[in-house]
Amino acid sequence: MSDCIFCKIAGGDIPTELLYESEDVVAFNDLDPQAPVHVLIIPRRHISSLLEIGETDAILAELQSAAIEIARQRGLGETGFRLVTNCLEDGGQAVFHLHLHLLGGRRMGWPPG
Ligand code: AMP
Ligand code: ZN
Repeated sequence: MSDCIFCKIAGGDIPTELLYESEDVVAFNDLDPQAPVHVLIIPRRHISSLLEIGETDAILAELQSAAIEIARQRGLGETGFRLVTNCLEDGGQAVFHLHLHLLGGRRMGWPPG
C-alpha cells in the first residue's frame, strides 16, 4: 500500500534497521519505545488489522514465532515479555498495518490502560 509507513519500512523505502527478516515477516525497533525492549513485528504484505486476516492465513503463527525468537535473542527468555496487538480504535491502533508489539525488560502492569 503506497501511503503505508510500515509497507515503506518493509519495502526499504524508509531506511530502518531490521532486527529480523524472513520471506514474510520483518521486525524493527519502535520509534517511541515503551519498555527497554520494544520491537514491532510485521508482515511484509499489507494487512490493515487483525480483523483482515483470513481463517486459513498462517501469518499470525509466523509473527508469533518471530517474536519468540527475537525475545530469546534479546535476553527475555528467562524473565518473560508481553506480546500485544492493538486492533482498531478501541484497541488503540494508530498504524493500520498489522503489527505485534514485543515489550520486555521491565515488569508490566495489569490491567492495561
Ligand atoms: P499501534 O498504536 O499499535 O498502532 O502502534 C503503532 C506503533 O508504531 C507506535 O508504538 C509507534 O511508536 C510506532 N511507529 C510509528 N512510526 C514508526 C516508525 N517509522 N518506526 C518505528 N516505529 C514507528
Ligand atoms: Zn502497509
